[in-house]
Amino acid sequence: MAEADLNANPTTEIFRSELVERRTRLERAVDRNRSDHHLGELLSEVDKALQRIETGSYGLCETCGGSIEHDRLLADPLIRYCLEDLTPSEQRALEQDLQLAAEIQRGLLPQPDVRSNGWEVAHHFAPLGVVSGDYCDVVLPEGADGHSYFLLGDVSGKGVAASILMANLHATFRTLLASRQPIDVLVERANRLFCESTIASQYATLVCVKASAEGDVEIANAGHCPVLVASGGRTHVMGSGGLPLGMFCSSRYPTERCHLDPGDVMLLYTDGVIEARNGDDAEYGHDRLVAMFGATDEAARGSARGLATACLDDLAAFLGGSPRHDDVTVMAIRRTE
Ligand SMILES: [Zn+2]
Repeated sequence: MAEADLNANPTTEIFRSELVERRTRLERAVDRNRSDHHLGELLSEVDKALQRIETGSYGLCETCGGSIEHDRLLADPLIRYCLEDLTPSEQRALEQDLQLAAEIQRGLLPQPDVRSNGWEVAHHFAPLGVVSGDYCDVVLPEGADGHSYFLLGDVSGKGVAASILMANLHATFRTLLASRQPIDVLVERANRLFCESTIASQYATLVCVKASAEGDVEIANAGHCPVLVASGGRTHVMGSGGLPLGMFCSSRYPTERCHLDPGDVMLLYTDGVIEARNGDDAEYGHDRLVAMFGATDEAARGSARGLATACLDDLAAFLGGSPRHDDVTVMAIRRTE
């Protein structure tokens, strides 16, 4: 029974096809390098993994029988032990990889506070673990087409595998922005590239905001949380809809436009904010975020950092010390004089 269930599992199918693909490549390499014994050993490991899929024991730790972490299997479909059952030297190597991944990720982040071309931006990037699957970038006009770009996203999964996809998204967008295309085209192209470069179970949500120095704003959203905009004394929920990147290669991304006057603000955030749960298992939720955003006073809205802090303080008050369960990223944007 369990065996049949596991074999029908589409996730298992992904690993099976990944492994079959690797097997074909390995066989070719073995043919070319008969003297390389390591290749032969790898080939037999791949065969053993395929056998484990057939018998239904794939993805189970050989020491404790528990499930091996999904994102680790995605990164290396040959692993046979859960995190807790690694040998000390394997643990040390993993720890070093993680620290390096975190360092690379920090290097990709924009400055926490940016002020340029009519806009002021403050972000807060808080991984749940050592690395985050959240994507956060600010591209100023020097690197783009006279506009500023504010980007926030969330890659499926957590940990190292998600952080690698996040880095991929960062590089993809930086490259695409140089092509000076409209943002619906940029997001469409990013989606196609993402579809081609990731395995089927992985995707990313993304919101892309393009802003002129005069306050004209255009928003494209690929399945990410909507953007909150406060202008003319009202709160607007903008740019919802669109499918995540990497789901369907032919997705389209319609855009929405608005205008911000000096002092008007926008808030971008990841679902780690609205899906946060407190000790009573209540969800922070979209409504509370909108209410918090609408109720911020002049003191909080007087700077992008003030708005980001007001948002994080409200989340912390709601959680009341309960631990987080997801990466959290917030980006506050304010039009300046
Ligand atoms: Zn284990």
